[in-house]
Amino acid sequence: MSIQANIHKFKEELGEDVTLVAVSKTKLVSDLMQAYEAGQRVFGENKVQEMEAKWSEMPKDIQWHMIGHVQRNKVKYMAPFVSLIEAVDSKRLLKEVNKQAKKNDRTIRCLLQIKIAEEDSKFGLSTEEAKELLASDAFKEYKNVSVVGLMGMATFTDNEAQLRSEFSKLKRLFDDFSKTHPAFEILSMGMSGDYKIAIEEGSNMVRVGSAIFGERDTH
Ligand SMILES: *Cc1c(COP(=O)(O)O)cnc(C)c1O
Repeated sequence: MSIQANIHKFKEELGEDVTLVAVSKTKLVSDLMQAYEAGQRVFGENKVQEMEAKWSEMPKDIQWHMIGHVQRNKVKYMAPFVSLIEAVDSKRLLKEVNKQAKKNDRTIRCLLQIKIAEEDSKFGLSTEEAKELLASDAFKEYKNVSVVGLMGMATFTDNEAQLRSEFSKLKRLFDDFSKTHPAFEILSMGMSGDYKIAIEEGSNMVRVGSAIFGERDTH
């Protein structure tokens, strides 16, 4: 199927309640524009410079989500335009986002990335670390960031029971934080291979790359 047809299929399948992030990392602007012409306005990238290059070339009504690990010295390049930073995995990163947001006279929305996969993934906060961050005095000082939810990546597996258990664990944490953090509204979980299960377990934002744009060249 074409990129346009894939976008239409996903929009229809997901409806109004689940936001589709079209993960366009490694893809050419011409591919992204096909998705744009099909009505897609939310794109996800995992490298700051690549996202900045695409932002400068593409229409300005696009919402750009940073979905990958970010080095603190790169935050300044996306601070003027990024719509949602999905993978905040440390207090030091959040502090830098706050600083750069302030310089740009804006508030940047962020999600905390939580480790839910069984495999020892490099990035993401543990439940305890996330709790500690949200309860810290430093966090209350960050007036130019708004933490609006959580993001997680499940283990790369076909084992449905395992996927469900990882997603439902994140959903419970999200519900728990939502009680004390009224700004919480986004639970980003699910990718091409597991988005259906993620939605059944409570996701309201899915990050879909290969099922829209085709397989990526590995790099
Ligand atoms: C690449 C990526 C995706 C999309 O993966 P697909 O399997 O191609 O849908 C989603 N989330 C993150 C964080 C990614 O890096």
